Amino acid sequence: LKINITEIDIPCAFGPAFEGERVRGGDLYCQMGGGKTQCTELVKMAEMSEIEDGKVIIVGKDIGDMKEGETLPLGIFIQIAGREFQTDFEPIMERQIHHLINYIQGIMHIGQRDISWVRVSKAAIEKGFTLKDIGVVLHAKFHQDFKKIVDKVQVTLYTNKEDVDKLTAWARSEYKVRDERVDKMTDEDVDTFYSCTLCQSFAPSHVCTVSPERTGLCGAYNWMDCKASFEINPTGPNQPVLKGKVLDPKRGRFEGVDEFIKKASKGAVETYNFYSMVHAPMTTCGCCECIAAMLPSCNGIMTVGRDYSGDTPSGMKFTTLAGVMGGGASSPGFVGHSKFNVTQKKFILGDGGLLRMVWMPKMLKDELYDKINIRGKEMGVENFADMIADETVGITEEDILPFLQEKGHPALTMEPLIG
Ligand code: SF4
Ligand code: ZN
Repeated sequence: LKINITEIDIPCAFGPAFEGERVRGGDLYCQMGGGKTQCTELVKMAEMSEIEDGKVIIVGKDIGDMKEGETLPLGIFIQIAGREFQTDFEPIMERQIHHLINYIQGIMHIGQRDISWVRVSKAAIEKGFTLKDIGVVLHAKFHQDFKKIVDKVQVTLYTNKEDVDKLTAWARSEYKVRDERVDKMTDEDVDTFYSCTLCQSFAPSHVCTVSPERTGLCGAYNWMDCKASFEINPTGPNQPVLKGKVLDPKRGRFEGVDEFIKKASKGAVETYNFYSMVHAPMTTCGCCECIAAMLPSCNGIMTVGRDYSGDTPSGMKFTTLAGVMGGGASSPGFVGHSKFNVTQKKFILGDGGLLRMVWMPKMLKDELYDKINIRGKEMGVENFADMIADETVGITEEDILPFLQEKGHPALTMEPLIG
């Protein structure tokens, strides 16, 4: 028996019309995540007998227990069972959380995976919004939008720090497995890439093209995920894109991709390169996990993750960079990318690759430490991670240059970044 849900039983208005709506400082009642607390999302497949359809479990405090201005950690754990459901579909369902929570009037959702952020407005509180409504929405919409693969949905919302931390550790190991599914593949191996236009409601001209060696900039979609998404929903946001003629192998420009993005961006974007941030980089939307920026005096680049709120040598914080770059334009000198992409082999290879990296926030460098060293070694530099400056060295180009010189950073002797 397939369940049909037409009404979504929550106290707030709901629909795509509210997707772009912001919850600004003065309207904010409380929030979860966004660097203030941990906020993590995980979708896992379950056995039919293991879960109860439509059940929403709250473990810990709910919104009613919160005072204005308070923050809470949040873990959104969704279990899905279905005769046709596969573990390959987990990341696709997980990525829906972003726009579905945004559909609730007065609630704003930013980010994904373990860097999510939920902002609840005073207006939503007045209407009677509680955390349970997140579960109600996800249950209803997963049934509605994914009838073919979804039979049962159960949602658990954790707000105790220990529970959220436990979920986060598990989620990270799941993300790792998903990311590594494309690890051995190269862009040359396939003749088809996949588009993603899921973010066009926020950034109308934005089109991600996802290749094995360039995961979606949100970090939530890789080539495999887009392929699976296309199989579930052939008219959906992930369409196959035939590479066609290779127009520029170094910077990664493909005739088929250019044709596709011209159409998909309604003429706003004519072309972009997969492997360059200096020349016609890929478009960037506000969900990117990291934003890279050129640092001309160091002949290199930096990148900053969403979870680092401090200053950077580009002169801008992450939020400023995302505000300027995140509208869906191609901005030469800047590009949004996933964390995983940093150590993928094609990462800005047209500009010299990972060896251009001269600055990263310490937390991101530590997270990617071993992978940076492995990739650095492949490119001929031992212990490369230790040559990359971070905020403990400095937050201006001037301050980090002596460190780079002392370490013999390879970017300093590479060909000029611009020109
Ligand atoms: Fe899709 Fe790109 Fe948005 Fe990720 S950032 S959901 S890959 S359009
Ligand atoms: Zn986006």
